[in-house]
Amino acid sequence: MMGSNNGNITIGHVWGIPIQINPSLFVILAILTWTLATSLLPEAYPELNTTSLWLTGLLTAILFFASILFHELAHALIARRNGVPVVSITLYIFGGIAQLGGKPKSPGAEFAVAAIGPASSVLLAGVFWGLNQLFGDRGYFGASTQWLAYINLILAIFNLAPGYPLDGGRILESIVWGITGKQETGVRVAGTAGQIVAYALIAWGAWNVFNGNLVGGIWSVMIGFILHNAATAEKRAFIQQGQLSGTRVSQVMGNVREPEIPAGLMLQDLVEQHILGRGQGSFIVVAAGNPVGVLSLRDVSQVPRADWPLMTAGDVMTPLVDLPRVELNDELLTAVQLMDANQLLQLPVFDGSRLAGLLTRDEVIHHLRVRSEVGS
Ligand SMILES: [Zn+2]
Repeated sequence: MMGSNNGNITIGHVWGIPIQINPSLFVILAILTWTLATSLLPEAYPELNTTSLWLTGLLTAILFFASILFHELAHALIARRNGVPVVSITLYIFGGIAQLGGKPKSPGAEFAVAAIGPASSVLLAGVFWGLNQLFGDRGYFGASTQWLAYINLILAIFNLAPGYPLDGGRILESIVWGITGKQETGVRVAGTAGQIVAYALIAWGAWNVFNGNLVGGIWSVMIGFILHNAATAEKRAFIQQGQLSGTRVSQVMGNVREPEIPAGLMLQDLVEQHILGRGQGSFIVVAAGNPVGVLSLRDVSQVPRADWPLMTAGDVMTPLVDLPRVELNDELLTAVQLMDANQLLQLPVFDGSRLAGLLTRDEVIHHLRVRSEVGS
């Protein structure tokens, strides 16, 4: 899953990899702690007092997330061994994601990186089961260790479902890739399989809702939709990457340089003269004859209309120094990855030290559309 890390909190580093948590995690941590402290634990140990129930519940919930982190670190370790850099590990409401800086280069490597995930969860299930056998109910951890063994086993089985974005999908991709010799065939099969897995979850959830299991049903439907989006996005991203590679930024960027506007231009005048008057949408902001920033319709539309006569282009522009830069000769794929990672609609393109113009997302979309119309 590509994208920015907006809103995620970095809690530390392992092997130099930033470990992040999404704020939604606190919600699920609370729900999990509450569920454990009010049903599982009091059923096992009715004599435990409230404080102990909640502390044991919290510790168990934290160990559950530590299990997910362990699973993701296993992916990261094997990815690195296969020459794939790991950008970050993020723990979400529905599990974790190890964001890789590329795809493994061979079906064997893809298989190893994917398979280590469920294998590590099975290993953890075994460890917790062993602890449960060893210590039993000493310290009232019997129910917790049993639950952790069970949940890690479920995690392994769920992740083995053969479709993107789950580990089973990547295993399926690597097998199809290995047999056909074509990675794209593997990606298409795993992507479609992921959509089928997602539909099955949604259907199963709906069936549960109609049969009175409201919470469990809605949960399945939600996970189904998330998986469906992820599977579709992953398949599309791979196909798009194929279309983007081999193309230079200069081939896609428009021939006409974006209009220059002075930094002191009032937004009201910008809207009347350039946007409404000439239908322009992207601008290079100049001060003392030099380009200093870029400005798009989106920047203007985020300012309340009442402030248009009060603010200047310089106030709302994105300064050039804050933007990543690409050269005319750079690969289009690199430019699009930079846009995605920084959530940008446009990117300044340089010809040496001179600003040659802006590469806009519209130009990229237009390029992809033209390419697909000519059937490449
Ligand atoms: Zn995994």
